[in-house]
Amino acid sequence: MAEIVEGYDDIKIATVCSHSSLQIFHGARKEGFGTLGIAIGSPPRFYDAFPRGKPDEYIILDDYTGILDIADDLIEANAVLIPHGSFVEYLGAKNVLRLGVPMFGNRRVLEWESDRRKQREWLTSAGVRMPSIIDNPKSIDRPVLVKYDGAKGGRGFFIAKDEWDFKIGIDPTQNYMIQEYVMGTRYYLHYFYSPISIEGYRLSKGSLQLLSMDRRDETNIDEIYKLGSMEDLKRLGIFPSFVVTGNVPVVLRESLLPMVFEMGERTVERSIELFGGLIGPFCLETIVTDKLDFVVFEISARIVAGTNPFIGGSPYAELIEPDLSTGIRIAREIRNAKGAGRLAEIIS
Ligand code: AMP
Repeated sequence: MAEIVEGYDDIKIATVCSHSSLQIFHGARKEGFGTLGIAIGSPPRFYDAFPRGKPDEYIILDDYTGILDIADDLIEANAVLIPHGSFVEYLGAKNVLRLGVPMFGNRRVLEWESDRRKQREWLTSAGVRMPSIIDNPKSIDRPVLVKYDGAKGGRGFFIAKDEWDFKIGIDPTQNYMIQEYVMGTRYYLHYFYSPISIEGYRLSKGSLQLLSMDRRDETNIDEIYKLGSMEDLKRLGIFPSFVVTGNVPVVLRESLLPMVFEMGERTVERSIELFGGLIGPFCLETIVTDKLDFVVFEISARIVAGTNPFIGGSPYAELIEPDLSTGIRIAREIRNAKGAGRLAEIIS
């Protein structure tokens, strides 16, 4: 893939029109790249309302797997694909792995990220704390979250406080994991790891940035407390859900920032040992307890939609460069790597 991209005359930044694509196209444009949007059915009409975010041109497909059939066209267009959460979810990790088009980042991360157990092995072996796992439902003696394999955006999660709760909630036909429900406040930390930069917070190779952080709005869990106790609601057939509807900017008290960098650093260093490194943007989804410890319940190894409140910069990005967004940072990395003849290190 690196060879292909090195042969391009004029790189074009391409992605699926969804999720954080307006930010990605906006950043690419600011860094002087042409942009290509892949849309299903027709170009999203509301993109016309955002002229600085919409792509220069579109490729229209009938469905997401159609991307596999247009690999040659994308290469012909000098496209570098930027994966985002919806891109990977709609196309499927296996298809992303076999898609024959240069892509920003290291695809090998998918193998470690898409399987909850492997994700856990990666992070815990990096020394990052995760919620404890309960193997036997009989041992549930505190609030737990039951997560089905592949459940996305909190759909298909349920809370149980004892074995009885578990029994009435469980769908035994699916694979699940019982995780300790961590009490505290949530912070979704948006990092960027560059193997080629030598500025700022240095790692064994390259450097790490903290660009922003958000908290997700989740329906109905965020508001359900207004209706009274969960036990009463359960009797009425109303259960908590964790479906993401939006993102809210947050900042952390400064004394927690050293831990934020330490966790990000360990995650990247371990990824280099395990699979050659997690390249570009990633997000640690954390809960800070009242003991001021971080517990990481998930990692997203690419741009997350939680970076969208910061298209015009964030309180952290402002301390690096005015108006810096994750979208701009991605395009900048491609530009820097091309200039340094090091595209092979950031493209797979
Ligand atoms: P996820 O799909 O892993 O991002 O999780 C969806 C939502 O469930 C999160 O945004 C949190 O609100 C909540 N959540 C996930 N894991 C835990 C946990 N171990 N303890 C408490 N809340 C959690």
